[in-house]
Amino acid sequence: MRRPIIAGNWKMNNTKAQTYALLGELVPLVADAEAEVVVCVPYTSIWAAGEAIKGTNIKLGAENVHWADKGAFTGEISADMLLEQGVEYVIIGHSERRQYFGETDETVNKRVTTALAKGLKPIVCVGETLEERENGKVEEVLVRQTEGAFKDVVAAELDNIVIAYEPVWAIGTGKTATAQDANDTIAIIRGTIAKLYGEKNAEERVRIQYGGSMNPKNAKELMAMPQIDGGLIGGASLKAVDFS
Ligand code: PEP
Repeated sequence: MRRPIIAGNWKMNNTKAQTYALLGELVPLVADAEAEVVVCVPYTSIWAAGEAIKGTNIKLGAENVHWADKGAFTGEISADMLLEQGVEYVIIGHSERRQYFGETDETVNKRVTTALAKGLKPIVCVGETLEERENGKVEEVLVRQTEGAFKDVVAAELDNIVIAYEPVWAIGTGKTATAQDANDTIAIIRGTIAKLYGEKNAEERVRIQYGGSMNPKNAKELMAMPQIDGGLIGGASLKAVDFS
């Protein structure tokens, strides 16, 4: 019903040469994957990645997109620019962008609605910090972030938007949420989608990934959980064997 989606988030890693090398190794390793496979790469690697995965089952993703068509937004990138390079998916609202670059629920929503309107598929990141978890605020934070991201998103778009639940305390730390905990927390997010769009839409059309130190050792257990529809993979996406 919900096809699993595994997406790599390369972050600020890999030069052009390294992009060719990594994808050259990855292509045959995932050729028979049942899951949808996506690599989200830095802007400077998009062209090379597009060439390296041409004609394969790997899809191309970016790590951010601006809401304006064009203009005086130094350092930003537009949906049209990404589409022209063959980009299909785009990560929006990653916790590193929320933490270091002033991303808010409002700017996440502007990026999401623009991406959808242009035909890009957002991978929207939500997740609580350790402090929020320790203060019992997980549900409050996830409901706020999810409702914020989906403001003005119509039900017809639900097949084109993926959510990544990424507890901030698990990103790049080696600490993973237990599979049961990740599953139960994702159920909260799916419940929020159900309130907005109905149970059937939430169950059948919205894929929710887990992200946060997912690796070859814990992937199987996480992927076996009924609520978890795939992974957003940071560190382990930089090694072809680990990612595959
Ligand atoms: C991420 O940043 O999206 C992520 C999940 O990173 P890592 O797998 O390295 O924790």
